Amino acid sequence: MQILVSNDDGIKSPWLWALVKELKTIGNVTVSVPDRERSAVGTAVTLRQTLRVSEVKPEVPGVTAFSVDGMPSDAVILALGKLVPGKIDLVVSGINRGLNLGEDAHISGTVGAALQGYLRGFPALAVSMEFRNGQGPESAARIAALLAKGIAAAPSEPNLFLNVNIPDRPLPEIQGALITRLADRSHINTVEEGHDDKGKYYCLVRQMTNNNVAENTDIWAVTRGNVSITPIYTSFHQRPPMRTIHQICAALTGELGLTRHKPAKANR
Ligand code: MN
Repeated sequence: MQILVSNDDGIKSPWLWALVKELKTIGNVTVSVPDRERSAVGTAVTLRQTLRVSEVKPEVPGVTAFSVDGMPSDAVILALGKLVPGKIDLVVSGINRGLNLGEDAHISGTVGAALQGYLRGFPALAVSMEFRNGQGPESAARIAALLAKGIAAAPSEPNLFLNVNIPDRPLPEIQGALITRLADRSHINTVEEGHDDKGKYYCLVRQMTNNNVAENTDIWAVTRGNVSITPIYTSFHQRPPMRTIHQICAALTGELGLTRHKPAKANR
């Protein structure tokens, strides 16, 4: 299996390398990521300036790694278009340090990077983990690798795009893996204003709101200790391959020994 890995936290993120280490156990991995943190840039691409790419020494041996002075989307577009010769079977973005739930899917560079894979017909995973209790990313990396393994075993699906969010707890404490839909909001956005020596300034403030989310949304699942697997799609005429997604989710719960696998109703 040929796997392309990207992220929005940059080449130095230890959570990237934790993911690469696990994915390396199931396939060949190429890394193409921004040279610095580019969180919350969403689907931004660099069009009016040149991009520079450096091949860098990977933190996991046996992996080819590229650092790009651009956006997460740039890193994936460059890798798929130029840097990686031959076939790619899966694009994985992450592991993001922090969840990407509900409306965050629209501004997340992690999701944005995976989107570029999906738009080019490659199965794609965006993987994010809650950062609250300060656990390492190892459980999320393991889950991502099991999902990749499930994708390899399933029929080939060009329309597969999953936004995966994992609670901050050790693997034995994960409750289940649920197929969810995006919650309709995750934050209250407010604008604060003030004055300093340069004059008036504004500051966007986001406050997490977890109350009253609908059942079977991503927020609902993660706050109850489950892995949330949200099928994402952009097409008006093609739906996510739900049968395959159920198969992949069932394989994950089987591998983790979870008993509470109750896939929620799919996106409609
Ligand atoms: Mn990030």
